[in-house]
Amino acid sequence: MLDQHGYVLKALQNNVVCEGLVFDPTAHGERQLIDWYFAERARGAALPPPEEITVVTSLDPCAMCTGALIAAGFNVVVAAIDPRAGINFDARFDFASLPPALRERAAARFFYPAVLGSSVFARDSAGAAPKSFFIGKTIAEATQALCSLAFEATNEKVLALLNADLPRSALLDPATLAPNHPIVRKLKVLYPDALAYRCAPHQPDAGLAPFMRAAMAQDLAQGGQGDAVALLDAFGNLLLCAPGRQSQSVICTAFMECTRRYAQLRFKLMQGAIDATREEACRYLAHPRQGTFVFARGPDASAASFMNLGAYGSTMEGPVPADNPRQFQYVLPSVSEADLAQVCDGMPPFYRETIKIRPVQVSDQALVAALS
Ligand SMILES: [Zn+2]
Repeated sequence: MLDQHGYVLKALQNNVVCEGLVFDPTAHGERQLIDWYFAERARGAALPPPEEITVVTSLDPCAMCTGALIAAGFNVVVAAIDPRAGINFDARFDFASLPPALRERAAARFFYPAVLGSSVFARDSAGAAPKSFFIGKTIAEATQALCSLAFEATNEKVLALLNADLPRSALLDPATLAPNHPIVRKLKVLYPDALAYRCAPHQPDAGLAPFMRAAMAQDLAQGGQGDAVALLDAFGNLLLCAPGRQSQSVICTAFMECTRRYAQLRFKLMQGAIDATREEACRYLAHPRQGTFVFARGPDASAASFMNLGAYGSTMEGPVPADNPRQFQYVLPSVSEADLAQVCDGMPPFYRETIKIRPVQVSDQALVAALS
């Protein structure tokens, strides 16, 4: 992250995986830099406004980071292309994978410097006019090659680690654990109402409404628009219902908070633990792809929603299990189902083909009425 003169304010790397475990599926370098910036500002640090800041990234930002960068209003300089999840995955630099309303905003902020030479890495510059200190700058071929190859060399290994979770048949119901079991105690420290509600698997009903309404009110009080996101496990137990904290950082939406807090709880239970403890944690607190995320408000075509969709993809990490097609549900629609499908179908291949993101409205009309 550079200031208006080109001085480095802060540099961060991807921290999704830590000690061989998923630490935080949203901990990409760009996302962390944005939260760092707003945390510093909240603490009174004299940082330039977002429009004077430039985030330089080795890899084309994913959908989550692109949504976050647009929502925050930073300038972006990109080196390598990510053909799976990058916002310009096809190297056409037309931002076609964004909803139309966001394309212009991205095109005015994202700059892809030229790479000179005649290798496969060579390209013309594309995108926005860069800040003054970047004008006329190009990326050296060797630098571009490194940015690209470092990603490709580690991608397969990371994906294998991220997709090594237990199948549905191996999971155990945390509601059967004693109230003083360490897993239940830690879950309730994270969210005191954990396990206080249960529905048929993947079928949230009106009983969820009081928990969602409480979080929605908190979200409003913390700078959001009254959204909340609940995570139910494969048995229908409520594990967590989170509001956003957008007064802290514009990108701290309810979904970002929900997925991050659950991942970090699992990480803490498994970090440094013996194998039996790790396995127990995996069986009782499964990967979210086995459960259901319930958004109080459905996604729309905004930058923050696009970020949420991207973060949802990063949370799933791989295909959603075939026996859980309704993993992503919302109560109140923000746009029509057809418009939402269009946004999802336009996303880069990782989201469109691997994860096949498809939010659907909850089927219980009493729950819809209770939040309306
Ligand atoms: Zn990212």
